[in-house]
Amino acid sequence: MKKSVKLGQTLLKNNVIKGEYVRTAAQPIQEVHSPKIQQGQQEGLSSKLRSQLDKKNILPFSYFLTDKLGRQHDYLRISLTERCNLRCTYCMPEEGVPLTQKSNLLSTEEILKIAGIFVQQGVKKIRLTGGEPLVRQDVVQIIQELKKLPGLETVGMTTNGVVLARKLQDLKTAGLDAINISLDTLVPQKFEFISRRPKNTHSRVMEAIDKSAEAGFNPLKINCVVMKGLNDDEIVDFVELTKHKAIDIRFIEYMPFDGNKWNTKKMVSYQSMLDIIRTRFPDILKIEDTPNDTSKGYQVPGHAGKFGFITSMTDHFCGTCNRLRMTADGNLKVCLFGNSEVSLRDAIRSGSSNDDLVELIGAAVKRKKPQHAGMTSLKDMKNRPMILIGG
Ligand code: SAM
Ligand code: SF4
Repeated sequence: MKKSVKLGQTLLKNNVIKGEYVRTAAQPIQEVHSPKIQQGQQEGLSSKLRSQLDKKNILPFSYFLTDKLGRQHDYLRISLTERCNLRCTYCMPEEGVPLTQKSNLLSTEEILKIAGIFVQQGVKKIRLTGGEPLVRQDVVQIIQELKKLPGLETVGMTTNGVVLARKLQDLKTAGLDAINISLDTLVPQKFEFISRRPKNTHSRVMEAIDKSAEAGFNPLKINCVVMKGLNDDEIVDFVELTKHKAIDIRFIEYMPFDGNKWNTKKMVSYQSMLDIIRTRFPDILKIEDTPNDTSKGYQVPGHAGKFGFITSMTDHFCGTCNRLRMTADGNLKVCLFGNSEVSLRDAIRSGSSNDDLVELIGAAVKRKKPQHAGMTSLKDMKNRPMILIGG
């Protein structure tokens, strides 16, 4: 019996196809994808042969992680939790989010199993995110285990930094390679407003930035979501920080997600940010970006650090996208702005073999769209709130 058919039957038997197997966040199902795998037929070679060639490392890159446009997905972002110790207005809806019950979240073993499959297929970089990844108790253990995966080059983390300083040594010992810390303001009162948490939390994030730099995380990336009338007056101050600190500030265009009350008037385009920066630093230099960089990099001559822009809204980088995402409840998202998801958790729990999972992942990757919708349509599109995706 063909493997794809067997997989379909297993899932049907376990009753996970109807309505649950592929689900669309926050809405009834919009696209239901048959788990039957047809990619081999589409591309000439049978998927069995592809799989054999893959295993022998004959193909230049995993067939299953390559989409129809030839984009090779070697970067996986894993959300470790839906929980967070901050409640940033642009990420967490005011009313909060319904949390998935613990038994439906990926266990440590399931995370490591899925990560192992992706790495075996050619993923070279994994970023742990959330929610706040550091609120997960087994985060150090997960990093230790990920670092044992042959072929995985980098394990990074995006964190709000609130509890980072005290966990830093353990994270470093476990082998964490790279840290991005989110910081949207240098003003404690504003931090309180944005994060809906006490203003003294701000000093803990600032301490985490200094300690991470001291611990040798270089370059240390700082993510700053820029919102009009809220923190756009601080853009120049952030750039000023790069004078003596070897940090890489990444200004992120504010993106729409469910419940974050996004509108175009609150968004500051990277071109406007550049204009603002040039009023203070007219001779900024463009830095050469690496092929899959999401950030357009710049530097003030003579500054120790640099800065850049993540321009998902006004100049998307879909053409070079190499990223896939796993949500904390085990859904694979091939695009941050796509609401089609595939539950690897359900497939694992219904007894799918590793080969079955690879085929399932491959089929999802092949369905990845060339690019996400434009700004105005994104605002109206149903998606998860960012906190339930993992940025
Ligand atoms: N809690 C961690 C943190 O804040 O760094 C990790 C998760 S957070 C969802 C990951 C990144 O997504 C953060 O840098 C955050 O600023 C960014 N983010 C969240 N909502 C966003 C939005 N609406 N637009 C742009 N970036 C956003
Ligand atoms: Fe939490 Fe990060 Fe979202 Fe802020 S951006 S609410 S810190 S997950």
